This record gives sequence, structure tokens and C-alpha cells, in this order.
Amino acid sequence: MSIFTHDFKTTPYWWEAARPSDDMAEPLPEQTEVAVVGSGYSGLSCALELARSGINVTVIEQNEIGWGASSRNGGMLSTEPKFANPDELRRKFGAQTTERILEDGRATFDNLTEVVEREGIECHLERNGRFVGAHAPKAMRSLEAKARELETDGVEGFELISRERLHEVTESDYYYGGLLSNDGGCLHPGLYQQGLVKACKRHGVRMCAQTQVKQLERDLDGFTVHTTKGVVRANEVVIGTNGYTSSTTPWHQRRLVPLGSYIIATEELPVEHVESMFRNFCTMSNTQRILFYYRPSSDHRRVVFGGRASFRETDALTSSQQLYEYLCQVFPSLKGTRITHGWSGNVAFTFDHLPHMGMHEGMHYCMGCNGSGVQMMSFLGRQIALKIQGKTNRPCGFDDIPFSTRPFYRGDPSWVLPALGNWYRLRDRFERLLA
Ligand SMILES: Cc1cc2nc3c(=O)[nH]c(=O)nc-3n(C[C@H](O)[C@H](O)[C@H](O)COP(=O)(O)OP(=O)(O)OC[C@H]3O[C@@H](n4cnc5c(N)ncnc54)[C@H](O)[C@@H]3O)c2cc1C
Repeated sequence: MSIFTHDFKTTPYWWEAARPSDDMAEPLPEQTEVAVVGSGYSGLSCALELARSGINVTVIEQNEIGWGASSRNGGMLSTEPKFANPDELRRKFGAQTTERILEDGRATFDNLTEVVEREGIECHLERNGRFVGAHAPKAMRSLEAKARELETDGVEGFELISRERLHEVTESDYYYGGLLSNDGGCLHPGLYQQGLVKACKRHGVRMCAQTQVKQLERDLDGFTVHTTKGVVRANEVVIGTNGYTSSTTPWHQRRLVPLGSYIIATEELPVEHVESMFRNFCTMSNTQRILFYYRPSSDHRRVVFGGRASFRETDALTSSQQLYEYLCQVFPSLKGTRITHGWSGNVAFTFDHLPHMGMHEGMHYCMGCNGSGVQMMSFLGRQIALKIQGKTNRPCGFDDIPFSTRPFYRGDPSWVLPALGNWYRLRDRFERLLA
């Protein structure tokens, strides 16, 4: 039996409710105060904040508005974003910057909630907690150590779940226990993206779809933005291209490692079945180096399951088959369930695993979501807008921290990623075999 339904689609499941479109697109103007390149969460959040203050903004997008990762992701959120170890950050950036990074990291969830409520965006924002499963006993010991650290830091709202108690959280037997915490949530990424587009339009943002920025020239009075649909003059430019950053901005390209992430969605299931996999409909991921992330769909009728199906460019059918295998390893009760959608999108990793915002050659940018950008890129886009207007009391924690690259790296990781990815996957498998 085929694992695919007869009407299987290689477009995101989220697009059934909110498909990126050119409906609201307009022609390129001759002049704009701020030109924003990219129409994802970062570009739109920046544009919205500027337009709310009456600033003339033009968003320029090479595809349909909202075509990038922002309408393709898993929609998983966390009130406690994970960054590198705080002690490591302190060693690198000093105490003050580290405190800002941690403080701003925590502010990202509240920022998202505030915008969603203020703009009346109906995107099924839920706060149902999250579970991180330990793929091996060693990984469980690391989670135990993390739990002790959290306790020492006075963090509340988490619980270690032993292997014996796993069925209180999920019907799966895949894990050696895990960490359940209150701090997780999720939303419908497509509806959130669409809500931002509508909010931008209400506040007068001009959207130019199917318009690729080819070249950016700076002079004494601002910028000339050369696009496939002509030229626009701008006082300020904001780059929000994340995993789709290209040689149009080579400095940024050299600092990002773009990587494909893949997702599948199952056909509809009984709600009780979904609840038996996800207690309280929480989101889930695991401790593997090449991790899976998964959640119930917003109507709690499907499983949406994502991961790094491949480290080479691959087609949706092949990646979906691979993910389906992983899905059935975690939830054997889904064997025989078919999948309706399988798709992919690009994320952007950085060499220090931190997201970055700042200014280079007079242009503002925010990028480097490292796989977790729903709330982060929304926050950073807004921070750029506040910075442009001089409305911030202090620099954002992620602003102008060193944004490093590596010698000889030009932005194409395809020669090293397959080997590295397979090595990590092998280690994950070996640890499970050993267990
Ligand atoms: C499959 C997948 C699953 C994910 N799951 C999660 C998750 O569960 N939780 C989470 O927090 N994050 C997740 N992420 C990450 C998150 O989606 C991204 O961090 C976020 O959407 C990035 O937003 P952005 O606006 O910076 O970039 P994007 O949304 O990618 O937008 C960039 C846009 O720039 C446009 N562009 C690029 N170059 C040009 C040019 N020269 N001219 C004009 N336009 C240009 C592109 O077409 C694109 O539309 C996931 C990502 C993917 C791909």
C-alpha cells in the first residue's frame, strides 16, 4: 500500500488554510523611505512596526508574499529559547551583553503574543507545553543534569519523566524518558504569516511580489535598489532573507549555512489517537543530533512531523518516505496511516549558533534563525524597526555581536554537509544500538 494519499501534495499543509499569494501585490514605487528585502516574519514584522509610526515602507519579495520558511515551518514555540551555554556566552561577550541576549531571548514569546493579540491575528496560538524525549540512556542523564541546573536557577514548570512514566506523556516507547515543560507552544505558521501580511496592508505597507532584488548600491543620499522589475530609491534598506540569502548580499551569505528542513503531515486521525500521542496536544522533539520535531496540527486531527530527512538536495517524495519511516519508529500505531503533504524549506545556521541583527555597509539585517525563528525573527524584525526610529532604550542583545564566518567559506555548504550529517546520524544510531 502506498504511504501517500491519491491527492498527495508537495506544498505545505498550512497552505490549505493560508496560501502565499500575489493578491495584494503592487508595482514597485520610485521612492520609499525603507525598502525591506524578504516577506517572511522578519521582513513583515519590521515593516509593520515602521508603518505603525507612519513611515513609508516597501516590502520586496522574489516569490509570492510569504513564500519562504515563514509559511513552511513547524510553528513550534518556546518561552525559554535555547542558546549556547550562558557561561560560554559570558566568556565570549561579557556579562552585560549576555544578560541582554538572555533577556531578549525570553522577550520573544511575549512579543509574538502581543502582536498577535493587538492585530487580531487568528493563528491558533496555543501554549500546551513541550516534551523533549531522550533517544538513549546517556541523553537521559544529560536531561537529568539540565533539570538539576534549572532547579538551581529557580526555574519552575518542568518535570523529568522517567522511562516507566513515559506513557503518561505519549503512547510512544521510543524514548528513555524525557523532560516535560510548560514553556512550549505552537501556532499555525501560515495563518500567522497571512495575519502579518493583512496587518501590514492595513497600516499601508506596499508589497511588491515576484520582484527579485539583484543589486544594492549605496550613495550619500541612501540606496538604489536594483530589481527585476526596475529600480527604487530608499533611505534605508533592511535585509530579511535568512535561509534564502544569495550572492546579492555576499557578506551575509558567507556568514550563513543554509539547510533544507523537511516536514510531512498525515491524513486526518481520530482526535483521541492524536491525544494519545501528544498529552495535552503538546509539541515534541528529541535529543538526537539530527532531531525530529513534531506536533498535532492546529485542529488536533493530524500529526505534523519534521526533521532533516536529507543533507543533499532531494525531492519531496524521497524526503517524505524517509520522514515517514522515522514517524513510524516513534509512533508504530501510525503504520498504515497515509500522508497528505510533504514539503521543505530553508533555514539558516550561523557559526556561533546565535541569531544576528546589525548593520553592514549601511544596510540593516536580521538573520540566522538556527532552525528556531518563528518568534525570534518576528522579534528581531521589530527591533530593527525600533532601532531605525531611535526608539530603543538599549541595544538589542543580538545587535552587532561579532557575526563570524570561516576561512574560504562562500555560502555553499553542499560539499561538507552530507558527510557531516551522516556522521551525526551514525552517532545517533550507534547510541541507540548501544542502549
Ligand atoms: C521546514 C521548516 C520548519 C521549521 N520549524 C520551525 C519551528 O517549528 N519553530 C521555529 O521557531 N522555527 C522554525 N523554522 C524556522 C523559521 O521558519 C524561520 O526562522 C523563519 O520563518 C525565518 O523568517 P525570515 O523572515 O527571516 O525568512 P523567510 O521566511 O525564509 O523569508 C525570506 C524571504 O526572502 C525572500 N528573498 C530572498 N532573497 C531575495 C531577493 N534577492 N529579493 C527578494 N526577495 C528575496 C525569499 O523568497 C523569502 O520569501 C522552520 C523552518 C523550516 C524551513
